[in-house]
Amino acid sequence: MNIIIFGPPGAGKGTQAKNLVKKLNSFQVSTGDMLRAEIKKDSDIGKKIISNMNEGKFVDDGIVNKLLENIVFDKNKMNKLIFDGYPRTLDQAKNLEILLNRSNQKIDFIFFLNVNKDSIIKRIEKRKILEKRSDDNSETILKRYDTYMEITKPVLQYYLKNDNFHEIDGSMEISDISQKIEEILEV
Ligand code: AMP
Repeated sequence: MNIIIFGPPGAGKGTQAKNLVKKLNSFQVSTGDMLRAEIKKDSDIGKKIISNMNEGKFVDDGIVNKLLENIVFDKNKMNKLIFDGYPRTLDQAKNLEILLNRSNQKIDFIFFLNVNKDSIIKRIEKRKILEKRSDDNSETILKRYDTYMEITKPVLQYYLKNDNFHEIDGSMEISDISQKIEEILEV
């Protein structure tokens, strides 16, 4: 089963993805984590993306799509993918479809965690203290939210019509969100 967790920054995608990884014995595909790992390694990719990431801007589709390709074609992970933070652009959504088709896979469920802007700002302010992420400062948070509204929200329109699309109230308690998702998945 392949699942996309979709929503604005701070909606709780990572938390829910981690829960599903445990529950379904699957793999979290967090492009944010993959990109932060490149920066930590100080790789060529890391050097290219560091300023965009710190400013809350998106990393080039080409770079992100390439990182994703290795995972989608990994035989050990096939049909066990929990996408968190990908796709974020229409180009990425189309790329994902192509890669999944080529590897005889599909998206089984899409969960949209819907949370309003004020709650998100409060949550990210909290996460800033817990996780010490360099892109979790007030100015960057707003930038990331605006980027989401402008570039990622159209991806929502793209998925909205699918039978496997489910909107979840992301302002609920973490455990209630998990329960709702598990009910839909029947796990
Ligand atoms: P996240 O951990 O998902 O909140 O992502 C943190 C940052 O990584 C984002 O603000 C972007 O700069 C970058 N990033 C993560 N995923 C993507 C993606 N799919 N496309 C472009 N940039 C991304």
